[in-house]
Amino acid sequence: KFDVGEVLSHFNINETNPAFSTGKNAGSSADAEARAITSPVDGLKIATVQMATAAEYHAVAEQAVIAAKSWRGLPAPKRGDIIRQIGLALRENKDMLGKLVSYEMGKSLQEGWGEVQEMIDICDFAVGISRQLYGLTMHSERPGHRMYEQYHPLGVVGIISAFNFPVAVWSWNAMLAWVCGNVCIWKPSEKTPLTALACQHIVQQVFAENDIDEGVSCLVIGDRAIGELMAADHRVALVSATGSTRMGKAVAATVAQRLGKCLLELGGNNAIIITENASLDIALVGAVFGAVGTAGQRCTTTRRLIIHESIYEQFKQKLVSAYGQIQIGNPLDEHNHMGPLIDKYAVNAYLNSIEQCKAQGGKFIVEGGVLEGPGFESGCYVKPCIAEVENHFAIVQHETFAPILYLIRYHTLDEAIELQNAVPQGLSSAIMTNNLREAEQFLSFAGSDCGIANVNIGTSGAEIGGAFGGEKETGGGRESGSDAWKAYMRRQTNTINYSTQLPLAQGIKFDL
Ligand code: NAD
Repeated sequence: KFDVGEVLSHFNINETNPAFSTGKNAGSSADAEARAITSPVDGLKIATVQMATAAEYHAVAEQAVIAAKSWRGLPAPKRGDIIRQIGLALRENKDMLGKLVSYEMGKSLQEGWGEVQEMIDICDFAVGISRQLYGLTMHSERPGHRMYEQYHPLGVVGIISAFNFPVAVWSWNAMLAWVCGNVCIWKPSEKTPLTALACQHIVQQVFAENDIDEGVSCLVIGDRAIGELMAADHRVALVSATGSTRMGKAVAATVAQRLGKCLLELGGNNAIIITENASLDIALVGAVFGAVGTAGQRCTTTRRLIIHESIYEQFKQKLVSAYGQIQIGNPLDEHNHMGPLIDKYAVNAYLNSIEQCKAQGGKFIVEGGVLEGPGFESGCYVKPCIAEVENHFAIVQHETFAPILYLIRYHTLDEAIELQNAVPQGLSSAIMTNNLREAEQFLSFAGSDCGIANVNIGTSGAEIGGAFGGEKETGGGRESGSDAWKAYMRRQTNTINYSTQLPLAQGIKFDL
């Protein structure tokens, strides 16, 4: 049984919560704006948060700069040990934090717990990485010389996160940034600040037990105004921003003005190609979970199905019947497949997209609409819907963050790949086929242009071990696994002369 009061007091979340939190301070000034946070699950107010002022942001950034000096001096494997302890604390808090994610954001409880599991997984991964921050050794062209490279911390890393993965995205960034020797300032989505306060509470307990300056983990609650301050702040060496393409373009332009670094994880417009050689049962589960999971609010949500003409009608019937079985309702009830959208703005965007789709020639084979009546009082529950469209429709080119699935028919695989790539975004993609030639063509340089390309797996649900991110308007950043840690460090090339001469590179003579 879910008891919101129990969850909030577990994480020390009160009726009124601070605008910022660092090691030295937590609080808000008298002119901080108070904002009520309501749950999309039942429309009830959960708590109030104070929105940080510009002065508060600057004070936090100063604390972060101070904390960076001590944290970087701790050896990387020792930093890894702190992350190991955060992973243990997250395991202890998995149930409570997963519930809060589900209640504040609206995703199913399974997905809320899954999100916390991702945090635990990235902690484990980061602990290993803390002993593997390798650089290369090169052979110098000069006698008696040695050349190598090493990776140093950047300093302060700013993390701007989106509402849909309110805690996992922060952890992908923070755990790696921390083992790399950086400190973090997190600006969570203004729609999901309470889960951020809960994470800060967990981390600060671990820091206190280890006598770590809590300024290593700074939290600033605010909306885009705080994000804009962070993007312009020369003290923030790297701005890692997850959200819409609109936001990414604004952040990139501001960071570029000061020639800072940014890591962008932006919108997707993900497709699954279903060929005549696909296992239709696998394709069905992949497509339906991909389209309705998290109510269509994942960056990797399946938005387009590109289906071979020979199986199009058969697969369409399967989809329609599967959509008839989707249970929509309170995401904390494990029987439901799909919960609400985040808020009424998202509901309006969903309704507008349906209208535009119809106006542009789309034909709905499963109708959408807003659900009303008992259990749907928040006004945020909508029906997942399916439309037959053409890929070039303006609405199909656009990422609508809602459960609207577009069906497109194809004739040859070349044509299907062209359709899959013919959108501005380039995050996740998949092909369903048991034919080796089709799979390899899709994965080749002439295949999918996305950062993620899967075979016989849908577009959503990545593991933390691989580098995550996408091309084109998705922003080009890579987070999480593989060598994504390198984005959080600066590379330095070192050449050491241990000879008794000073030979110059390229054999240049310079006699005095
Ligand atoms: P959003 O762009 O509205 O907000 C994201 C964050 O950016 C928030 O914290 C917001 O306050 C901040 N922000 C907004 N405008 C800003 C500006 N001009 N300068 C600085 N900060 C600004 O996105 P959202 O609605 O919270 O999330 C949904 C979007 O996020 C979708 O487009 C989705 O695809 C994308 N997303 C991408 C990934 C990925 O890894 N590629 C992951 C999750 C979400």
